[in-house]
Amino acid sequence: MAEPVFRRLALIGIGLIGSSIALAARKYGLAGHVCVNSRTQKTLARAKELGLGDSWHDDPSAAVAGADCVILCVPVGACGETASAIADALAPGAVVSDVGSVKASVIAAMAPHLPADVHFVPAHPVAGTEYSGPDAGFAELFENRWTILTPPAVTDAVAVARLKQFWRGAGANVEIMDPHHHDLVLAITSHVPHLIAYNIVGTAAHLEEVTESEVMKFSAGGFRDFTRIAASDPTMWRDVFLNNREAVLEMLGRFTEDLTALQRAIRFGEGDKLFELFTHTRAIRRGIIEAGQETEAPDFGRPHGGEDKG
Ligand code: NAP
Repeated sequence: MAEPVFRRLALIGIGLIGSSIALAARKYGLAGHVCVNSRTQKTLARAKELGLGDSWHDDPSAAVAGADCVILCVPVGACGETASAIADALAPGAVVSDVGSVKASVIAAMAPHLPADVHFVPAHPVAGTEYSGPDAGFAELFENRWTILTPPAVTDAVAVARLKQFWRGAGANVEIMDPHHHDLVLAITSHVPHLIAYNIVGTAAHLEEVTESEVMKFSAGGFRDFTRIAASDPTMWRDVFLNNREAVLEMLGRFTEDLTALQRAIRFGEGDKLFELFTHTRAIRRGIIEAGQETEAPDFGRPHGGEDKG
C-alpha cells in the first residue's frame, strides 16, 4: 500500500462528517493513525465501540498533540472556540482544517487563534445526509462529490497540496475557491433550498384545513422530498444561517422576487411563462445528472438517505 497522506490525523468531532472521514481514511489508507475527540463522553464511547479511530481523547488538546493534520468536524458556530482550545497543543507545520458548510465566518473565527507555524487550509466537503452522529458515517460519502478548499492566497502550497491529496484519496473532486464566493454559491445551492424545505414543512404542519394524516398519506406528491431535507440537524443548520446571513439574505431576496413573478403568472393565467420556466428547470436537472451529481434511480437512488447536503 502507498504511504498514507498524513502520519497522524486528529478528528475533533466525530459525527456524520468526522466518522465518514475516519472510515474513508481507513478504507483508502490515508492516515497512519487516527486520533478522535468529541465533546461528550457518550459520542466518544460510541465512536470507540464502532472502532472509528485508533486513539480516544477526552481533551481536544491531547488529540491534536503530535498530529500532522487536524480537522475540526464540529458545528460552524463551535469552530472558533474549538480552535482556541487546541491552539497551544498544535504541532509546528501541522495542516489545520475544518469541514464547515460556511467559510468566511469560520475563517474569521478560527484564524486569530492559530499559531503562525501551522498551515490553515479551510475546507467544505459538499456531501452529507440528513442523519447525524457517529453511527451515520460511511466511507463512500465523499465519492464523486466536491470538496471545496478556501485557503488564503499566502497559504503554503505544499500544505494545500497534501490536503487536496487527502480529499482526492477519499474519492472527492477538489476545487479551490475564494471563501466569500463559496458562501454565495452554497447559499443558493444548499442553504436557501434547506430554508425552503424547513419552511414548507412548517407551513404544512400549521395548516388547519388539511389534517396531519392527509399530509402523511399524500406526501409522495412532492412534499416527501422536502421532509427529507427538513429532517436535517437543527444545530448545524441554525449555525449555517446565523453564519452565512448576508449571502442567504441576498439569495432569498432574489428568490422572493422570482416567486412573486410566478404568483403573478398564475393569477393572470400566463401559462406560457410557467411552461417556459418549467422547461428550463427540467434541463437544469438533466445537467446535474449528466455531471454525475445525481442519478435517475427511484427515490433519487439514495441508499443512505440523501447526498446533496451541507
Ligand atoms: P454531527 O453529526 O451533529 O456531529 C457533530 C460533532 O460535533 C459531534 O462530535 C459533536 O459532539 C460535536 N459538537 C457539537 N456541538 C459542539 C460544540 N458546541 N463544541 C464542540 N463540539 C461540538 O454534525 P456533522 O453533520 O458531522 O457536521 C459537522 C460539520 O460538518 C458542521 O460544521 C457542518 O456544517 C459540516 N458539514 C455537514 C454536512 C452534513 O450534511 N451534515 C455536510 C458538509 C459539511 P457530541 O456529539 O459529543 O456533542
